[in-house]
Parts: sequence; C-alpha cells; structure tokens
Amino acid sequence: MEPTQGISRRALLSWIGKTAGAVAMYQAMTSLGFAAESSFDSNNYELSGAPKGSSVLILGGGLAGMTAAYELRKAGYKVKILEFNPKAGGRCWTLRGGDKYTELGGHTQECKFDEGQYLNPGPWRIPYHHHAVLHYCKQFDVKLEVFNQVNHNAYFHSTKAFDGKPKRYREVQADFQGHIAELLSKCVDQKGLDQAMTKQDTERLLLVMREWGALNGDNEYVKGVESSLMRGFDVQPGGGLMPVEQYSQPIDRQELLNSSLWKHLHYGQAFEYQSTLFQPVGGMDMIAKAFEKEVGSLIRYNSKVTKIDQDDNGVTVNYVDSQNPGETMTETADWCVCTIPLSILGQIPSTFSNKMTSAIRAVPYDSSVKVGLQFKRRFWEEDEHIYGGVSYTDMPIELISYPSTDYHSSGKGVLLGGYLWDENSYEFTSMTPDMRVKKALEYGSKIHPQYMDEFDNGISVAWHRVPWVNGCYGMWTPETREAHYNNLCEIDGRIVLAGEHASYIPAWMEGAILSSLDAIKRLHQHALDSSKQNA
Ligand SMILES: Cc1cc2nc3c(=O)[nH]c(=O)nc-3n(C[C@H](O)[C@H](O)[C@H](O)COP(=O)(O)OP(=O)(O)OC[C@H]3O[C@@H](n4cnc5c(N)ncnc54)[C@H](O)[C@@H]3O)c2cc1C
Repeated sequence: MEPTQGISRRALLSWIGKTAGAVAMYQAMTSLGFAAESSFDSNNYELSGAPKGSSVLILGGGLAGMTAAYELRKAGYKVKILEFNPKAGGRCWTLRGGDKYTELGGHTQECKFDEGQYLNPGPWRIPYHHHAVLHYCKQFDVKLEVFNQVNHNAYFHSTKAFDGKPKRYREVQADFQGHIAELLSKCVDQKGLDQAMTKQDTERLLLVMREWGALNGDNEYVKGVESSLMRGFDVQPGGGLMPVEQYSQPIDRQELLNSSLWKHLHYGQAFEYQSTLFQPVGGMDMIAKAFEKEVGSLIRYNSKVTKIDQDDNGVTVNYVDSQNPGETMTETADWCVCTIPLSILGQIPSTFSNKMTSAIRAVPYDSSVKVGLQFKRRFWEEDEHIYGGVSYTDMPIELISYPSTDYHSSGKGVLLGGYLWDENSYEFTSMTPDMRVKKALEYGSKIHPQYMDEFDNGISVAWHRVPWVNGCYGMWTPETREAHYNNLCEIDGRIVLAGEHASYIPAWMEGAILSSLDAIKRLHQHALDSSKQNA
C-alpha cells in the first residue's frame, strides 16, 4: 500500500492527466463543430413571398433536401426534388424484416428481423438540444421515446484486463471516483493544496470528496457500506431471514488505472450524449417518413443526377433512372439547392466556381460500420438485467448497444452488435456482409457467452459501400474549415449547397436541417434581390 505524499501526488496527476484525454477530445470535438448546441429558433426561418413563378430544383431527398422543399414550397416557390433512391430520407434510414439492400461490390442482404424489430444503420439518437429536429418531430407528430445512453449495469470490457472478464459500469465509475477522492483528500490532509485554496475551501472540498467518492469516516475508499451503495453489493439487502447483505470489494487502484476501463466513462458526460436523448418510436426513419408525407409529391425517385450546369438564366440538371440507367433526362429551374453528399458531388461534372470546386474536393468522408444482430431472446435483460444503454470494449466492435424500447418484453430482440470507426471500420468494410456478422458474434460472445446459442440472424451496413453516400459524414479539420467552409456555404451563381457537410454540427441530423434552413433563407433573399433588379 501507498501512500507517501509524493506517490499520492504522482498517482493523482497521472489519473487526472489521463482523464484529461477525454476533455481534450471534447475540446477537439467542439472545435470541429461536433458538440455544439443548436442555434435553432423557428421564428428565424419563416419564409414568404417568393418571386412570382420562380422555381427551385432540389438535388437529394434526405432531411436537408426535404426541409428545403417543405419551407420553399410554403414560401411560394415551384419545387421539385431529384432523389437517387426509391424512397426518401437518405442516411435517416431504418432496416426492417423484408428490406433488401445492395452495397457497392454487389452483395445484397435481405433483412430477416421479425416484425417490430429494426436496426438504425445511421442516426440512432437525438440530443435534447437538437431543437430543429425536435421542432419538426413535434410539427409532423413523430412519436419519441427516451434513448438510454448510460446504463450503470452495462459493461466495460478489455481483452487486456481482469482476464478478459467485463466489469459493470457502476463498479468502474464508483471505484474511479472513490480512488480519485481518496487521493485528493490525502493531498488536502497533507496541505498539498494550501497555496491554491483557503482553509474553508479545503474543508468544503473534503466534504464533497467524501460524498462524491463514497469515502468512509477516515476519508478512505474501501470495502464497506459507503462504496457498496455506489458500486453495488455482492449480496443485495433482502427481506425477512434472507442472507445478510455483503459488501463488494472495490477494484484495486493500480489495477483499475492499468485496465484503461475508465476511459469509457466520459462518453455519457459529453454534451451531445447527456440526458435526455430521444429516438423515434419504431425506428429513425419515422422522421424521414413524416417529412415524406409532406413533400413526397414533389419528389422524383430513382433519379441519379449526372451533370449540373448553370448560367445567368437558370440551372440545368441531367439525370438518369438509377435502377435502369438509359436515356439522359433533363430538369431546369431558376435556382438549385444541392444536398448531394460531397463524396458523390465531387464526382459529378458541374459548373461551379473554382473556389466552390476546391471546397467540394477538400472534405473526405469518415468510415463507419454498424452490425445488427437479432437474438431469440432478450438474454441481456433476462440474465444480466441490462435495460438499454451501451457496453464498451477494446475489441474491434467497439461497443454493444441494447434496445431502448420494449423493455422487459418476451421474445426476440435486436442488438447493435458493433459500431466501428477508423481502422476497425476499414477492416470490416473489406469483409463480406456474412463475415462481418460472424466476426461481430465472435467478439460479442466474449462479453455475452449466450451469443452463439441465442443468435438468430444479422445484417450490416459499411458506410463506404453505401452507393449514394460513399462514407459516413463529411470530416472537417480546423484547417479545411478555415480554408473552404465559407466558400462551400456561399451561394455559387444560382446554386447553394446544404446538408450535414455544410454545418458546424456534422454527422448529426440537426446539422443537415440547420444548414438547409440557413441556405434557403439566403437563397430566398438572393432571389428577391435579383427579381427586384430585373423588374
Ligand atoms: C453511422 C451514422 C450514425 C449517425 N448517427 C446519428 C445520430 O445518432 N443522430 C443524428 O442526429 N445524426 C446521426 N447521423 C448523421 C445523420 O444521418 C446525417 O447528418 C443526416 O441524415 C444527413 O442528411 P443530409 O440530408 O445532409 O444527407 P443525406 O441523408 O445523405 O441525403 C442526401 C440524399 O442525396 C441523395 N443522392 C446522393 N447522390 C445522388 C445523386 N447522384 N442524384 C440524386 N440524389 C442523390 C441520397 O440518396 C440521399 O437521399 C449518423 C450518420 C451515420 C452514417
């Protein structure tokens, strides 16, 4: 056992230094726009009085495209959307039993989930501060339920610690806090903070540490009632003559530090994952379907845009039937809102200015893979009492997420059996769909031994193989934002771009909708100004 003053300080600094990684990551995310709060105010986006007879062609029928169509039609424009797919929504997509999906490379998967089960291969959670998404959900009557991000009974798992056996979130959290609190208390006792704080402040700090860290009367974090009330008991208190409660043993501080399990603690604390998160009842595409109900009559489906031209008089767009490419068709309009992802747009011959062309080419798309696994029974609830939330692991699947719906029901359930990024994602993208499911099962069974016996069927989406987006989301860096972001968002002749890639909240539906609302507001003003000049 420690502690000499020096070791305590070193250990404390080491812990704080290592968890500062989370803070640093959060700051980096903020500078990339990830963690920003939405600036939406519905009163700012009411448009009216379109110049008589003017038309807007919208390219892409995802949320950005449909938002533009809905608001521009209300303002009085003649609107049409060209959409690649036979349905609207783009990345706001849900896979259910009977759905077929063909990825780049030619593999077709048929989803075999039972009725009522689904996987959201793309968006799956809505933060409470994504005001624009929530505004349209309310307006279009999309029913929401709570998405459970943090579950204290879910697992943290490392192949390199505790013989590969998972620990419960609550154990890691309580022990992490407890050890930090004890170290800090010792620092206070040994007058280590005297220069930084008054006597009264250090007394307050001790009190906080005792509660936050579940310390005993001697400011120690040890096996006992205080720590068990945070991390759980070995034998839970019962009734009558049932066995007497047994306290649980905290994980040793050095072992916990070495395990790296604590690095998963920050996820649920980041602004974008804080409670309350939502999901639409029945699948994320309920949002897309609700938009489609409003603007579906304006959409020409199965239309793959192949060329975008503009001159002083208007915009001309060529397209072919995406299911059965043959003759080239043409659509014209006064103005154009293009929401096609940059990863695709960069491949389409277009008459953009040089600075817009450079901006389109400057943004690579991140890689991600999701794997959905249907099981014959909800063993995570029945055997392990995990109701929603996420378990984290250092294996390539990165996490397992449990359904935030139909809690405690009998019968089958679908887990998100992997949500992969970076090199893990590239590796899974290179596999066949069957192999991805097989691998997700192999890895997941190290956390849930029931996997192999209970598995029913599975499906996966590797976003770089999705033909109409070729990636997950537009990945800006501070440098590319500085050089290209404003050029990307400015109106270029008669065309304005919109979509998550043209926002400070990339990889979120909120970013797609806000970027669209901002783009059409500016386009509308531009159209009004032009019509005045021509009058
Ligand atoms: C794995 C993953 C997880 C995510 N998680 C979340 C989350 O939890 N919460 C959240 O809010 N957001 C999340 N997002 C982000 C969210 O899905 C997007 O930000 C949003 O849906 C993008 O909308 P969009 O309209 O900009 O683009 P899209 O939805 O991609 O729409 C673009 C449309 O253009 C069409 N198109 C493409 N090429 C052509 C062409 N040549 N001709 C005609 N049409 C074409 C496409 O078919 C598509 O319909 C996630 C995304 C992914 C991939």
